[in-house]
Amino acid sequence: MINDLPEEDPQRRAMREWLESVVIRTEKSTSWHNEAERLQPLVNREGYVPVHTRLSVEDLEFLKDAREDLLGFAEFGLRMLDLHQPRDAGGITSDSAHPIQRCRSCMWRWPCPTFRAMGETFHTCW
Ligand SMILES: [Zn+2]
Repeated sequence: MINDLPEEDPQRRAMREWLESVVIRTEKSTSWHNEAERLQPLVNREGYVPVHTRLSVEDLEFLKDAREDLLGFAEFGLRMLDLHQPRDAGGITSDSAHPIQRCRSCMWRWPCPTFRAMGETFHTCW
C-alpha cells in the first residue's frame, strides 16, 4: 500500500513530539494549586515555609524541567504577540469607527487565527 500523505517536516515533528511530551509530563504530575494557597499564609519571616511532602516519580519528572518549560512557553507567547498584532488594513470602509484591521504578520483579518488560538488556549490563565 502506497502512503500518499506527505512526510512531515522533521523539525516540525520533533517540535510536536516535544510539546506532546510536556503535556503528558504535566498531566501526570500533581497540581500544587490548592496546596500552595494553603501554605502561603504559613511563610515565615525569612520568606520560606518548610514543606514535608511525598513526591511521585511523575511529580519529580515534571518538577525537573517545569521552570524552564514555563519560561520557554511564556517567551514563546510574548514573541507570538509581538509577531501577531493588528494594523489598519487601509482602504475604504463604511464603518469609520471600526476600520478593518489585519494581522501585520500573517495578514489575516484581525483577530488572526494565531491570536485566536492563543486566546482559546490561554483563556483560563489570565
Ligand atoms: Zn497573525
